[in-house]
Amino acid sequence: MFELPEYTNFVKQMNASLAGKTIQKGQLGNSPHKFVWYNREPEEFERLTKGKVVGEAWVQGRWLFIPLEPGYVLLFGECGGKILTHTPGEKLPKKYHLYLTFEDESFLTATTQMWGAYELYQRGDEQNREYVKGMRTTPVEAAFTFDYFDSLIDELLDGKKRSAKSLLTQDQIIPGLGNASAQDILFRARLHPRHPIEDLNADQRRTLYDSIVSTVTEIIEQGGRYDEYDLYGNRGGYIRLMDKNAVARPCPECGGEVKKIQYLGGACYLCPNCQG
Ligand SMILES: [Zn+2]
Repeated sequence: MFELPEYTNFVKQMNASLAGKTIQKGQLGNSPHKFVWYNREPEEFERLTKGKVVGEAWVQGRWLFIPLEPGYVLLFGECGGKILTHTPGEKLPKKYHLYLTFEDESFLTATTQMWGAYELYQRGDEQNREYVKGMRTTPVEAAFTFDYFDSLIDELLDGKKRSAKSLLTQDQIIPGLGNASAQDILFRARLHPRHPIEDLNADQRRTLYDSIVSTVTEIIEQGGRYDEYDLYGNRGGYIRLMDKNAVARPCPECGGEVKKIQYLGGACYLCPNCQG
């Protein structure tokens, strides 16, 4: 599934190669999928997108906003799989959940794996979409300062008990992060996924904050994670430190054995020695 760094790269690439293109035909999927969310019927989507011009896209957490001017915004949310641009004449993927053809005969397809939203809103209404409305500050925004992060943790201490992994992956507390980036963030911060946030001392809060910002920045700079594809079908350059491949190699820090645990809806890979 795409996380904030991958979405950030899609925005850059879309603004470089799609902005200004006029839609000739907009189609929803050819492959029924229970967990793909649409808010328009196929004919309505085709009618509303016809002749619209792609504007400058932006990202918020795990949501990608593509203005279709005048008047509309296409929203890609919480999806994985592939979002691809194709040159004229290129073969159409067998399965897709969204397909836009442009007047220059190039086209864009999106095919998700597990779930995802492909929705079209009148400009402004997309801000009222559940999960977008009231979204907290994301780690790529200037407002995501250490002071902000520090008060966020203070605020959370009044609520239910949370672990470090929960802070990073649940309830959109830090929107845009997911299981993949969270594991590297925790490893770099030398924190066990189950570490309770109420036990974080001032230094650990600082280290965790630095680790969030530096990990997200590094993944963006390297064009996304190696296990995801960009808009042009290229793999990202960021090699994850802690993932299923890490079990076969020694910990990059101490040389110890990397372990897998099941915790909070998914596998976690960690070094028990470094993240004790
Ligand atoms: Zn280690």
